[in-house]
This record gives sequence, C-alpha cells and structure tokens, in this order.
Amino acid sequence: MQVRFKLLDAFKNIRYFSTTRFYEGYVFNPGFVNHINKNLTVNDRTKLSHIYNIPLSSFVFGNQTHSDHITHINAKDKGKGLYRKEDAVANNDAFICTEPDICPVVFSADCVPIILFDPINSYTAVIHSGWRGTLNEILLKTISKLNQLGSNSSDIICCNGPSAGPCCYEVKDDVFQLFNDKYPHLHELILTPFNNQWKLNLWELLKYQALSSGILQKNIEISEICTMCNSSLFHSARIHKDKSGRNATGIYLIPDNF
Ligand SMILES: [Zn+2]
Repeated sequence: MQVRFKLLDAFKNIRYFSTTRFYEGYVFNPGFVNHINKNLTVNDRTKLSHIYNIPLSSFVFGNQTHSDHITHINAKDKGKGLYRKEDAVANNDAFICTEPDICPVVFSADCVPIILFDPINSYTAVIHSGWRGTLNEILLKTISKLNQLGSNSSDIICCNGPSAGPCCYEVKDDVFQLFNDKYPHLHELILTPFNNQWKLNLWELLKYQALSSGILQKNIEISEICTMCNSSLFHSARIHKDKSGRNATGIYLIPDNF
C-alpha cells in the first residue's frame, strides 16, 4: 500500500511520501535504527529515491530527540545523514525548506509524522511529533516560523501520517497529568480512561493545534491509519519494540528544470 493525501496530490510541483513496513515483499527500513548492516539502510534510501523519483543526493536527515527544535535547511544541507547517522542534522525534529530540490525527511514508528506545504510561497516542512513534541507544540512553532518567513496560515496545508491512534495509544499517569495540566479544556477530546490508565488522542490535539495556528479545517488531512492496529503494514515501536524499524516521511519541491 501507499499512503497518499488528497490535499497534496492536487499539486504537481511536489513529491512526497510516508513509507510502510514492506516494499515488494521485503522489510523496508530507511532509518538507521535496527539495521545491523547500514548498507541495507542506504539501499532502502536508494529505493525510496527511485520509487518517488527524488534525487538521492537531495535527501536531508536529522537525529531526532523528541525535541521542539526546528531547522531551516538550504542547499548546503543536502545529503546530510544520508550515509552516516553522525553527520545528520543534530538534535532536530522538524525541517523547514524554502528552496526547491531538497527533500527533508523525518522518521516515525507510532509518533506522528506531519507534512506542511504552503503552495503560495512554495515552502515545505516535515515534523516528528510524538507525545513530547506535541506537548512542546512543535507543530505550532513550525507554523509560527513559516509565518515569520511570509506564509499565511490560511494557505498552509497540513497532513498527518500514520501513527498510534486514539484506539491504542496508552499513557501512564505521569503523561496524562502533563496533558491534563496543559489542556484542561480539551480533557474530553484527548484523554479517555482505559484500564486504570489513559488513552491519548494525538490526532485530535494536533488538529486543535493546527486550527489554533490559523490553518483552515479544509486544509487539514489526517490519514487516520493507526500504526499499532496496522503493525503488519507499518513499523510500530510499541508493537515491535526494539525490533522496530522506522517509517519515513518527506516532501520534495520539484525544481523548474527537473
Ligand atoms: Zn489503533
């Protein structure tokens, strides 16, 4: 299967992807996590480049830390982290890109991967937002940076990829408390009691954050595919534990002469 977003498919000047666990019958893992042989990771990145017709040298990878750190990348960053984790963009969970021919990529396995696209300015962004990133409002902060660069929120398209859904995403009291303290008015929407614990709805909270940043309802698309319910199709850190690979999500603005 392929993950597609209707809102992004309307534009011919971008290519994007949100990958799955298998490709042509083989485990597909473009993340360096849990690949004993890192050549396999590079092989899968090469496949990714071929499948989506994006130059391999245009990929930019980061070392994610569940932070709210955002990097505005440019042509000098192309290829970072492609062959070695050590030279990926350090301590980073969101990329903003305002030039063509660059493909920022985030990894996830239950956390929410988000693609932003401003078709007026041709700006792109990708975000890794798990519970920590969502609590630290990395989506809001990325939109705010895009606004500073000249984007109007009402033009921005926001697509959230496969991730742990409200059906499965259990959190313990400590995490419940953090969300309940920060968003008491959203308690009913985002927290559901379950087996003396709680289930957290990151999909609704991220939608709320997008709307409160001025993104229009009609410009928000949530895949609503739960990686835990569908762990045969997607890498899931909670289901596959330390054997989990990573799903990759990226967006590429096609240069005029491509
Ligand atoms: Zn589920």
